[in-house]
Amino acid sequence: MSSEKLIKDVSNKENISSSYNNNTPLVYTVVRNKAYDLTSFLDEHPGGRDLLILANTRDGTALFEGYHGAANPARIKTKLTELEIPIPSTYISDPNLPTFTFDDEFWLTFKIRLRQYFNGKSRKANYFKFFTWILSLITLYISTISFWNGEYWSIPVFGTLLWIVGTRSLHDGTHATTFNSPFVNKCVGCLGALHMNPWAWLHSHIYGHHIYSNIEEYDIDHDYIENYKYMNAWVRNLIKIPITAWWTSFFEAPLFEIYGKWPRQSASEFYDFCTKSEGMPYAFGNFLRLIFVLMYIIQPFTKLSEYGLIKTIIFATWPVTIHSIWEWHWTMPIHHLAENDRPKYVPGVSWAKWQVENTHDANPRSIFLNWLTIGTSNQALHHLIPGVDPVHFPYISPILEQTCKDFDVTYRYKDSAMELFYYFYTNQD
Ligand SMILES: [Zn+2]
Repeated sequence: MSSEKLIKDVSNKENISSSYNNNTPLVYTVVRNKAYDLTSFLDEHPGGRDLLILANTRDGTALFEGYHGAANPARIKTKLTELEIPIPSTYISDPNLPTFTFDDEFWLTFKIRLRQYFNGKSRKANYFKFFTWILSLITLYISTISFWNGEYWSIPVFGTLLWIVGTRSLHDGTHATTFNSPFVNKCVGCLGALHMNPWAWLHSHIYGHHIYSNIEEYDIDHDYIENYKYMNAWVRNLIKIPITAWWTSFFEAPLFEIYGKWPRQSASEFYDFCTKSEGMPYAFGNFLRLIFVLMYIIQPFTKLSEYGLIKTIIFATWPVTIHSIWEWHWTMPIHHLAENDRPKYVPGVSWAKWQVENTHDANPRSIFLNWLTIGTSNQALHHLIPGVDPVHFPYISPILEQTCKDFDVTYRYKDSAMELFYYFYTNQD
């Protein structure tokens, strides 16, 4: 079927996102004002189908740039030429969406240096990461058994490992950085989605948070803070945010709530998607979370007569709270600049500059911190090249630092995690 025919087939539909779910074959994206028919390319795409579906009907330029920073430009150009189609009549470019530019010297130079660094080497996870991952899984297993036996020491260990193992799997799997096989990455992402609907995460994190970093109403993570603006910053961060995170993670996100003003798939589209074989891992991820709630939140109540009320409540709530504390007292400071310190968004700003200047690194060369924090200690690089596994970041950090110096871009980092916390909590309204 020709591209023109495909375009005609969908021209009467309200939007292509729905048309995808109605079995209409055209999946397309727009990159730098040119449209590309991805339909035949879905299964060939080295990053997998889902990242393409995420770009379906949208301006996918920022997604495209971020994930291809280290890729071979000649190969990409040949592929794009093959896939190019006229812009479909159904494509509506939303004038309210933030806009970026992608051809500035800073980004172009960084990409060249990055390719020189990799020079044919794999950008996926390495054996060190697999080794530490397996070690974390074994510790998680041991602490789970102790948790079921009511041993107090298991609570902080178990809560922390939920974050390290769960979030690492969800985060890196959905960013498709860990394995070569897109299907394995997807399964790992869904299996790790213990605290969030993986489909909602794909939209809110991979798309919303990463494309529109720190832009209010577009970057989902701000919603959690904005709700509590009336409170003292310390109280808000120490008490309210973990509680909100707890609530949103376990109750709202499972209900497919996806925040953000950018175009996104709805809950009914998610259900439609899950009925297709490619949506099954997402459905299974949701099912797993239910099991998880039963095992870790309901299980302590089955021991109520043995534990007594206080111990039961501690066991039912604290592992998840500790997970949330990691998520919100570590991830928030490092993903998001303190309120009083954010650059002002200007339409057409360099996308790469925006990503770097809106994120923080903590002790960016530390391999240990990189491992302990599942790579989140190197946010500037993660935002610039989300398709590269975080395990490489301590080694690439000097390249970023040098390129920032050369082009007068601010590379924000603190020498230690403590310094970063202090900065974050003392620079809020
Ligand atoms: Zn990410």
